[in-house]
Amino acid sequence: MAKLAGSPDRCGVAILGSTGTIGRNTLDVIRHHPDRYRVVALTAFSQVEMLVAQCVEFKPEIAVVVDQESAESVERHLKSAGSETRVLLGADHLEEIAALSEVDTVMAGIVGAAGLLPTLAAVRSGKRVLVANKEPLVMMGELITEEARANNAILLPIDSEHNAIFQCLPEHFKVGQDIAQVGVRKILLTGSGGPFRGLPLEEFSTVTPEQACQHPNWVMGPKISVDSATMMNKGLEIIEACWLFSTPHTAIEVVVHPQSVIHSMVEYSDGSIIAQLGASDMRIPIAYGLAWPERLDSGASRLDLGAIAHLDFEPPDPGRFPCLRLARESIESGGTLPTILNAANEIVVDAYLNKRIRFDQIPRIIEEILGIVAYSDDVTLEKVLEADERARASTLERIEQKYSA
Ligand code: NAD
Ligand code: MG
Repeated sequence: MAKLAGSPDRCGVAILGSTGTIGRNTLDVIRHHPDRYRVVALTAFSQVEMLVAQCVEFKPEIAVVVDQESAESVERHLKSAGSETRVLLGADHLEEIAALSEVDTVMAGIVGAAGLLPTLAAVRSGKRVLVANKEPLVMMGELITEEARANNAILLPIDSEHNAIFQCLPEHFKVGQDIAQVGVRKILLTGSGGPFRGLPLEEFSTVTPEQACQHPNWVMGPKISVDSATMMNKGLEIIEACWLFSTPHTAIEVVVHPQSVIHSMVEYSDGSIIAQLGASDMRIPIAYGLAWPERLDSGASRLDLGAIAHLDFEPPDPGRFPCLRLARESIESGGTLPTILNAANEIVVDAYLNKRIRFDQIPRIIEEILGIVAYSDDVTLEKVLEADERARASTLERIEQKYSA
């Protein structure tokens, strides 16, 4: 529960990935509510200048830097700025700060599988966990929701679609509970279709990372921007929704909605559809996660429906976006297959961003990896980490041997 406004006992927040898009938006919401929140810990991989500036402004007790060279530089800069923030080096400390007793709320804002262990640590410590980092849920959503139940952690979805779905459910709904129990028949998961929704298919082989990262409606980190362009992001979100709302993927319909005004909808058994609308600004779901079940001024602009005038909807084109099918197939098979999908995707996206492979090769390589890496039906942490490692190695090898430009 968020601490009350004006209380001397402000809510302690740790932000994993504070220098990313999610992290910076979280700090912006907190900046406007200093009476309610205090930043206890910030973490980054290597963005020295930004992390130093954040520490000087928000005065956290601890800053974790994952990259060794960057840590020394952060320490030096903070010392000369007279900051009292303690700098800890290495990924192991991410789990430690996610579990600190001074921390009530953890923002999981790291990108990719690197966020898995810290997210799990926050959940096992019974924190309020704001889940932006979707990849850990894709890898082992069942275990994370079970651990949340067992440790009285509160999971709050921050991904805009899942936050929208959560807002459309009754207040007593708990994340991880079966949505059928509250009368929901179907989830309508909206997606803009990304920057290449209307691009002729034959041009998919020539699109550059710069073009792929130009999302029409959202400003996001490079990995999720490429995922949006391939629609793998929507595929990962189908799997994420399966676990957060305990529902089969067949009850989740993807609706392409280019304006990104409706952030998702739920259809109830009586035929009613409830939607959440708002500006394309991550501060809205972040503010909801921080204050839930209360509401907070997020700083986002208001929708002008007259100016928007109309909303469009269409089904996704399966030929253009094979990643949607790959995601559905992997959750249908289950076990560690979604982990393999996610790991292969992280490696191919990185290779694409570094111009080692073409855009149209992204789904092709992932499909090949899904066919060759052995998977297990057991979803234990050990099996998931093992599958993640094997899939990464196989994907790197495949790119090297068959695809490298
Ligand atoms: P980003 O690339 O902008 O930021 C990533 C953050 O993680 C940075 O602070 C970086 O320092 C840190 N990081 C990267 N690699 C790390 C590692 N190996 N170890 C520790 N820290 C590491 O990414 P983002 O756009 O903010 O996305 C973060 C997560 O939130 C992703 O999982 C993404 O899918 C999800 N998400 C983002 C948005 C959005 O609008 N940006 C929306 C929905 C969900
Ligand atoms: Mg999303």
